[in-house]
Amino acid sequence: MATVIAPTLPMRGPARTRIEPVAAERATRVLVSIHDVTPAHWAAVKSLWSSCRAVGVTPALLVVPEWHGTWPIERHEAFVAWLHRRVDDGADVLLHGLRHDEHGAWRTWRDHLRALGRTDGEGEFLTLPQAAARVRIHDGLARLRGLALDPIGFVPPAWLMRAETLGAAAAEGLALAEDVGRLYLLRASRPMLGPRVRSIPSAAWRWSGRSAWRAWTSAVVASARWRAMPVTSDRVLRVALHPGDLAHDATRRSLHDTLARLATHARWCRYRDLLPSSGTLGDIDGE
Ligand SMILES: [Zn+2]
Repeated sequence: MATVIAPTLPMRGPARTRIEPVAAERATRVLVSIHDVTPAHWAAVKSLWSSCRAVGVTPALLVVPEWHGTWPIERHEAFVAWLHRRVDDGADVLLHGLRHDEHGAWRTWRDHLRALGRTDGEGEFLTLPQAAARVRIHDGLARLRGLALDPIGFVPPAWLMRAETLGAAAAEGLALAEDVGRLYLLRASRPMLGPRVRSIPSAAWRWSGRSAWRAWTSAVVASARWRAMPVTSDRVLRVALHPGDLAHDATRRSLHDTLARLATHARWCRYRDLLPSSGTLGDIDGE
């Protein structure tokens, strides 16, 4: 029987390692992704990629075709070539908005409430009704497909979108989407009935590098989450890395510690492994 190393709470003196006879195939599945993949953040994205590969995980790349309206991906050939090499390495590509920010959007008080504490003006899909969301998803996909990149899913910036955005993503032929609490498996829209959506509860671990106190707090939270993490689970845990995580020592250290620990505890998986065609969904609860 394969084993994984179970986490232990810190003890007095050197940390002890406890070996539990847990079958590797029962260990918690962990999906790692790098958000905000754009030439604007290339150096940090490369650093995050290297950190992931050092522990044996191939992260998904959440690509933004025109970051903040000023970084059109087509004009950065070396960056696109780097993306192609990462796809050759096995990385999944997902669309992460068209420009990522809320330029030109007008929030209602409900939108403000939903975004409270979640983002500083980076909820591109927060305010968009379905038709407008579909246009942006369509345009974003066309931009990436025009570069021979083939996104398999959509992740809205800051995980903020309206419920009907799932229908827009499905109508554009995407098979996957996610928000802060769930993964969604999508099937194309049916006339009059709308898309078929299977939803899978999935915790998302992330850090915040927006300020020093947020960085420190998110590192403390990451440590607490780690101690509470089950050794085995039939759920999928997501670890979302952002270029801004590298801006503070606390988040950088916490991120690297978490990846190293997960490397000995978890089963890495990729988005493509969640697709029905992969045949690995049988033991994941869906709704
Ligand atoms: Zn983002």
